[in-house]
Amino acid sequence: MIKSIENLVESITKLPGIGQKSALRYALWLINNPQDAKEISKSIETALHLKKCKICANLCESDICDICLDENRDKSTICVVETIETLLNLEPQHIYNGVYFVLWGLISPIEGIYANDLGLEKLKENAALANEIILMLDDSIEGNLTAQYIIEMLPKDIKITKPASGIPVGYNIDSLDKLTLQKAFQNRVPY
Ligand SMILES: [Zn+2]
Repeated sequence: MIKSIENLVESITKLPGIGQKSALRYALWLINNPQDAKEISKSIETALHLKKCKICANLCESDICDICLDENRDKSTICVVETIETLLNLEPQHIYNGVYFVLWGLISPIEGIYANDLGLEKLKENAALANEIILMLDDSIEGNLTAQYIIEMLPKDIKITKPASGIPVGYNIDSLDKLTLQKAFQNRVPY
C-alpha cells in the first residue's frame, strides 16, 4: 500500500471501535473528498485547543467553564460524570442547576487506571463546599469501584446519591434515552 494511505489507515484505526476494513474505507473517502477532509482536519485542530476547566474538568475555551462561572448555578450540588457526554445529555433538559465534576475515566485496575488518574483530589476540594454529590456513573465494575472510592474519600456528612432504581441493572448512563435519564436523575436515591 502507498505509505501515506497506510499511515492514514493506521491513524484512523486508533479511533475506538474502528477496524482495519472501516479505516481503509474512511481513508479512501477522505482522499476522494479533499474539501470535507480539510474541514474535518481543521475542526480537529480547533477542538484540540479546548482546555479542561480548572474547577470541574469540563471542556472550555478559557480556564473556567461557563457552568462554573454562572452565578445562578448551585455550587453545593456536584454531579460527578465519567465524560462530558453525560453532561451534554443532561444540560439541554434543564433539570439540573448544580455544577459538575468530570472524571474523564473510571477506576480500572485492568486498564491501569487508578484513583490518582481521575483528579479526585480536586473533587474532594470542591466537595468541601457541597451538600450533595450525585454519582452519575455506569452500573459497571469500573463505575461501582469508582463510586465506592469516592464515597470513602468524602466526608461522611455529605449526601451521596445515584440515579433512581427502576432503570435496568448494569446500565450505561449515556445509553439511557432522554426520558429515562431525566426520571432516573430526578428520582435519585441515596447511594
Ligand atoms: Zn467548570
